[in-house]
Amino acid sequence: MSDVPAAEAVANAKAAASDVPGYAFQHDVVRNLICRQARYPDIATPQDWYMALAFSVRDRMLARWAASTKTYAAKDVKVACYLSAEFLIGPQLGNNLLNLGMEAEAHDAMRALGQHLDDLLALEEEPGLGNGGLGRLAACYLDSLATLEIPAIGYGIRYEFGIFDQEIRDGWQAESTDKWLQKGNPWEIVRPDVSYYVSFGGRTESTTDAEGRLRVRWIPARQVKGVACDMPMQGYRVDTCNILRLWKSEAVESFDFQDFNAGEYYEAVEEKVVSETLSKVLYPNDEPEAGKRLRLAQQYFFVSCSLQDMLRLMDAKGTPIERFADLFAAQLNDTHPSVAVAELMRLLIDERLLSWDAAWDITQRTLAYTNHTLLPEALETWGLPLFQSLLPRPLEIIYEINRRFLDEVRRQYPGDEARVKRMSLIDETGDRKVRMANLATVGSHAVNGVAALHSDLLKQTVLRDFAEMYPGHFTNVTNGVTPRRFLMLSNPGLARLLDQTIGDDWTRDLARLDALVAHADDPAFHDAWRAIRRGNKTALAARIRNTTGIDVDPDALFDIQVKRIHEYKRQHLNALYIISLYRRLCRNPDLGTAPRCFIFGGKAAPGYAMAKLIIRLINGIAEVVNNDAAIKGRMKVVFYPDFNVKNGHWVYPAADLSEQISTAGKEASGTGNMKFMINGALTIGTLDGANVEIREEAGAENFFLFGLTAQQVDELKRAGYRPAEYAQGSDDLRDALDQIAQGRFSRGDKDMFRPLLDNLLQHDPFLVLADFADYVACQDRVSEAWRDTRQWTRMSIMNTARSGKFSSDRAISEYCERIWKTRPVRIDLAQP
Ligand SMILES: *Cc1c(COP(=O)(O)O)cnc(C)c1O
Repeated sequence: MSDVPAAEAVANAKAAASDVPGYAFQHDVVRNLICRQARYPDIATPQDWYMALAFSVRDRMLARWAASTKTYAAKDVKVACYLSAEFLIGPQLGNNLLNLGMEAEAHDAMRALGQHLDDLLALEEEPGLGNGGLGRLAACYLDSLATLEIPAIGYGIRYEFGIFDQEIRDGWQAESTDKWLQKGNPWEIVRPDVSYYVSFGGRTESTTDAEGRLRVRWIPARQVKGVACDMPMQGYRVDTCNILRLWKSEAVESFDFQDFNAGEYYEAVEEKVVSETLSKVLYPNDEPEAGKRLRLAQQYFFVSCSLQDMLRLMDAKGTPIERFADLFAAQLNDTHPSVAVAELMRLLIDERLLSWDAAWDITQRTLAYTNHTLLPEALETWGLPLFQSLLPRPLEIIYEINRRFLDEVRRQYPGDEARVKRMSLIDETGDRKVRMANLATVGSHAVNGVAALHSDLLKQTVLRDFAEMYPGHFTNVTNGVTPRRFLMLSNPGLARLLDQTIGDDWTRDLARLDALVAHADDPAFHDAWRAIRRGNKTALAARIRNTTGIDVDPDALFDIQVKRIHEYKRQHLNALYIISLYRRLCRNPDLGTAPRCFIFGGKAAPGYAMAKLIIRLINGIAEVVNNDAAIKGRMKVVFYPDFNVKNGHWVYPAADLSEQISTAGKEASGTGNMKFMINGALTIGTLDGANVEIREEAGAENFFLFGLTAQQVDELKRAGYRPAEYAQGSDDLRDALDQIAQGRFSRGDKDMFRPLLDNLLQHDPFLVLADFADYVACQDRVSEAWRDTRQWTRMSIMNTARSGKFSSDRAISEYCERIWKTRPVRIDLAQP
C-alpha cells in the first residue's frame, strides 16, 4: 500500500491541481480523476487512480496520434493495413509508458499522489482478443510498425468477451467468461461517426444499366452496422502513434417491419439478435467442429468494414480509385480475413462500377496472404450452403474468380484435370466447400510462410500447385517478437544490464545484442547475469506460490513449456519424460540429477477433449510428485493457470530451459521460442518452425536438439508407423504408460486416461512414442550441462546475444520492403 499519508496525498493533489511548475503530469492525472471520472483524491480507489493515470497517458498518445494522422493525410503515403481476426495486445499501461519514455515520471507522479505504479499496473485486465501465437504476432507487428514509423492501421474485431479465463479445478481445466470490459477500457475511443453497413443473406438481382452493362444488385435479408473502436498504438521513443481499429457490431437503427410477412417478421427479429451478438465473443481455435455460421459472419463483418474504411480514407484524400493499391497494402493474417478477396472485388465492381479486370488488378496488387498452418485439418473451408445463405453476392464473385482462374490453369496445364480439381477454390469432393487458403492465394500478389522451414514445406505440400504456377509470389518472412514488451518491460533488470554493458542501441536494433559475445566469458558479467536471472525466478516462484500453493526452489532448473495445449505441441511427451524421471528418482533417491522445476501453462480449446485430458494428466503428475517426501525437492511439477500475455511477463524471463518439442513439420514458426531465447533461456527442441533458425543463430553447441526431422516423420508415416512397438522396445516408456493406465495419476481411476493411452498406442498421430527415447537422452544432456554453472551461463548469454534476428522489427522491415513497399514517415510533434 501507500507510504504517503492520505492527507499528504491530498495536499500533493491540490498542489498539482494549482499550476505549480513540475507537476504537469500529476496535474493531468488529478484533472482526469475529477473531470473524466467524477471522483476526487480523498475517495479515489486504486482502480480510479489506474483509470486516471491511463487517461493521462492516453492524452499524451492522442497528441501524437493527431500529428501522425495529419501528416499521413497531407502526404502521399502508403498505409500498411494489417487485417487480423485476433490482436492479443496484452496490458497497455506499462507498454505505453515505456514507449513514451515516461515510466519514471509516472512512477514519481503516482507516488506523490500516494499510489504505487506497480500496484496500478497489476490492476489492468488482459485484453484477451486472441487465442495465442497468431494474435500475439499481430500485436507485436503493430508495436514494430509504429516504432519503425510506418503508417499503419490494424483492423480487427472488438470482442466483448475475449478468450476465456482458465481455472484449474480438481486438476481439470474450468473455463469462465472473460469480462475484460466490465470496468471500462480507458484505451478505447469509440467513434459512432465512423461506421459502415454490412449486408447478409437475401438474394441478388441482375439488371442492365443505361450503358448496357451487366449490373448485380444484392438485396440482403439484413444489415449490421459496424462501429469503429480505436486503440492508439504508440511507437517506441518516436512520435508515431498509429491505431488499432476494432469493429463493434450494432443492429441498424430502424427496421421497417411493415415490409415483412409473419414468417419474415420472426426471422427478422432473430436476425436482429444475431447482428447484436456478432462481435460478442472470440471463438477459441482448435475446436474440432468449427463450422460456425457466426464465425463466418464475424469474418465478413470485420473485413467489409475495414475495406469500406480504406475506401473512405481514399475518398477523403481525393485519390482516384485507380490508385487504391498505391495507397494501401493489406495483409491477411491467415485465412480468417480471406473473404477480403471477394469483398474488395464486390466493392470495386458493384459499388465503384469498375470493370472486372481493373478491379482484379487492384485487388491482387493490394492483398497479400500469410499462411500459418500446414495441418490439413486446420485449413479453413466453409460449406457452400452456409456460404450461399449468408453471403450470396460474395459467393457469386468467388465463382467468377474461380471460373477465370481455372481457365488459366487449363491453359497452362492442358489436360491436367487432377490439378484443376486440386487448385479449384471449391472443393467438389463430398460436401462442396469454399477453400479459403486457395481463395487467399489466388487473390494475393504475395504469399508467405512464417519461418524458413514452414515456407519451404508450404511450397511442397498444401500450396504446391500454386507455388508451381506463381513461383514469384511465394516468400518467407520469419516471425519476430517485440523486444520492448518481451525484454524491456518484462525483464527490466536484464535490460538495465544490457544498457550498462553494450549501450542502449539494441532497443531499436536488436541485432546489436551481438556485442554481448565479447562478455560471454567475463566472470563479473556472469555474476550479474545470474543475479538477474535468480531475481526473475524468485518473482515467478512467488507468483506460483500465490496461485497454486506450490513451493518451488528458485535455484532449481526452471524447465518451462507455456503455449496452447495441443497434441502437436506434445505437452504429453514432456509429461511422459517427467514420469520416467520420477521413477528413476524413486528407485534411486541419490541420483545425481539436477533439481528441476517443470512448469506448464496454456489453455485448451473448450471442445478439445484430448487437450483437456493432457492438462488433467499434468496436474495428476504434479499431485503425486509434489507430495512425495521421498524425493524431497528434487523435482516439482506446476501447472500455472490462465497463461496469457500478462502472466507471460513473469514466465519468459524466469526460464532456464524452453520446451519447443512439437512434431517436426507441424509448428509453423512459434514465437514463444523467441521470447525465451531473447531472455536467455536455452532451448530443447525439434527441428521445427523457427527452432531451426534459432539453432542456426545460437549455434548448435548452445541448443539441445532431439527428434525426427520433418522428412523422417514423413518417411516413418509412409512406411507404416506402429507406435506400440516403441512401447514394447523401451522399459522406461512402457513403465510410464503403465503407471498412467494403473491410475497412479488419477487417484486410482484406471479409465480416466484411457482415451489418451489408446490414442498414443494405436495411432499416435504426432509420433510422441517415436521421439520419446531421443527426448529422454537429450534431457539427460540438459541435466549434465546444468551441473556446469559457468558453461550454462555462457550458453545463456550466447542465446540472448544471438537473438537479434527474432525481433519483430526485422520481420516488419522485410514485409515493408519485399511485400508492402511502404516507407517510414517521420512524425514530429513539435512541428506546428
Ligand atoms: C507468445 C505467446 C503464445 C505463442 O506461443 P508458442 O510457444 O509460439 O505457441 C501464445 N500465447 C501467449 C499468451 C503468448 O504470449
